[in-house]
Amino acid sequence: MYNYNKCYINGQWHSVTDGQKIDVIQPSTEKVIGQITLANKTDVDKAVFAAKSAFINFSKTSKVERISLLEKIIEVYKKKYSLMARHISDEMGAPMNLAETAQAGSGLAHLEQALAALKKSADNEKIGNSLLFHEPIGVCALITPWNWPINQIACKVAPAIAAGCTMVLKPSEIAPLSGYLFAQILDEAGVPAGVFNLINGDGVNVGSLLSSHPDIAMVSFTGSTSAGIAVAKSAADTVKRVSQELGGKSANIILDDVDLEEEITSGVMACMHNTGQSCNAPTRMLIPEKLYQQAVQIAANAAENIKVGRVDDPNTFIGPVISQGQFDKIQGLIQIAIDEGAELVAGGLGKPNGLEQGYFVKPTVFANVDNKMTIAQEEVFGPVLVLIPYHDEQQAVDIANDSPYGLSGYVSSKDQKRALEIAKQLRTGMVHINGAGVDSAAPFGGYKQSGNGREWGEYGLEEFQEVKAVML
Ligand code: NAD
Repeated sequence: MYNYNKCYINGQWHSVTDGQKIDVIQPSTEKVIGQITLANKTDVDKAVFAAKSAFINFSKTSKVERISLLEKIIEVYKKKYSLMARHISDEMGAPMNLAETAQAGSGLAHLEQALAALKKSADNEKIGNSLLFHEPIGVCALITPWNWPINQIACKVAPAIAAGCTMVLKPSEIAPLSGYLFAQILDEAGVPAGVFNLINGDGVNVGSLLSSHPDIAMVSFTGSTSAGIAVAKSAADTVKRVSQELGGKSANIILDDVDLEEEITSGVMACMHNTGQSCNAPTRMLIPEKLYQQAVQIAANAAENIKVGRVDDPNTFIGPVISQGQFDKIQGLIQIAIDEGAELVAGGLGKPNGLEQGYFVKPTVFANVDNKMTIAQEEVFGPVLVLIPYHDEQQAVDIANDSPYGLSGYVSSKDQKRALEIAKQLRTGMVHINGAGVDSAAPFGGYKQSGNGREWGEYGLEEFQEVKAVML
C-alpha cells in the first residue's frame, strides 16, 4: 500500500491539516492500493509562501548552479527509474512495457531537454540599442492530469527549475503516485528548500486556490478544455500568465499513394496506444473514398487483433482506462455514436472477454462517420477510432480543420512534399508525417481550444521566463 498522505513544503514532508483522505485505485484490478490526503487552504498558503520566500535566492542562482542541480536530478531519476515505471503503471493502468519505456522515459527526456535548453540559452542578448534579459517569471502553480503523469510533471518542473522559478505542483488526484515519487527524487537531489513544493488536492478546491492565489505569477495547466477555461477565468483577476495544454481530436489524413495495409494498421495502433488516453491521439482517420471499403476492413481487423490485457502481461498492448467514471463516459459516447447512425465495425459496448474486473474497454472502430457526429467532434479519451471518407485533398483538409481543437495532425503519403503541403494547411500546433513520433526537443502545444503556449525544450523554457529590455 502506498501511504502518500503528506505534502512536501519548504523541503519537509508535512502532515496535511485536517484533510480528506481519498483512495488510490489500481485501474487494472479496481483494488485500493494507496491513499492520499487532500490539502486545504492552510497547506496551499504555506506552500505558496515557501515558494515565494525561496524565489528571492533561487531566482538569483547562476546558470552553472542550475545546470548542476538538473544534472543531479537526472542522476537520481535514473536510479529510481524502475520504481517510477511501477508507480505509473499502478496509478493509471499503463502496461508495464509502456510504463518502462515511453511513460517513465518521457520524464527523463524532459529533464534532459531542459538541461540542454538551459546550457544553450544566452544570459542576455542585444536588440537595437538595448540589452534583453530573460528572467524567471516568479512562483508558478503546476497543475497536471493523469494520462501521461510524469511526462506532464517533468515538462513543467524541469524548465521551471532551469529558468530559476519556484513552484507548487498539484498532480492529478486520480494518479498522484508518480508526483509523490518525483518529489522524493527532487528532495534526494538536493533541490533547495521551498523551490519545489507538492500538494495533493482536487481541481475545484485546491486547483482553484492555486489559480486565484495573488502570490502566484503563472499557472501552467494541462488537462481538459473545460478545466483549462476555469483556470484561465480564475487567474484573470490577478493577471497571471496561463499556459494551457488542453484536449484534442486529431485527424490522420491518409493519402491515396500509401501502402494501405501498413498505414491503416499503424494509424489504428497509434490511436489506441496508451488506451487512447493521449491528448494528441489520431482519433479521426480520413480516407480517400475510393479506398474506403478496403480501409474499413483493415482497420476493423487491426482493432480486433489488439491485445487488451493486464498490466504485467508482456503481450499486452493496451491496459484499462483510468477510472470507472472514464469507462462510463466512453460507453456513453459509443452508445451516442450508434444512436446517431455510425456503423460499428470493431469493439463496441461492454468489456473484453475475460477482463470483467478492471476498467477495460474494447478497441472500437466506427465507419460511415460524418464529421458533424458527436463521436467525431468530442474527445473520447479511450480506444475509439472513427473512419471518415473524403473526395479530394481540399475536403480532407477542411474536415481535419472542422474541429474546436487544434492540437495535432497526421499525414501519410509516399510523397513527403505532398504531405508537407497538407501539413501547412492544418490549423494545429503539431503535425506528424508518416507516423513520426513526438520530439521532446520540439515545441508541444495546440491551436484553438487545444490551448495556449508551448512546452518542451527551448520553447518550454521560454514559457517560464519574463523578458526585460534595458535601454542603454
Ligand atoms: P482534468 O481537466 O479533469 O484535470 C486535470 C488537472 O486539473 C487535475 O490535476 C485536476 O485536479 C485539475 N483541475 C480540474 N478542474 C480544475 C479547476 N477548476 N481549477 C484548477 N484545476 C483543476 O483532466 P484529466 O481528466 O486529468 O486529463 C485528461 C484531459 O487532459 C484530456 O482532455 C486531455 O486531452 C488533456 N491533456 C492535454 C494534454 C496537452 O498537452 N494538450 C496532455 C495531456 C492531457
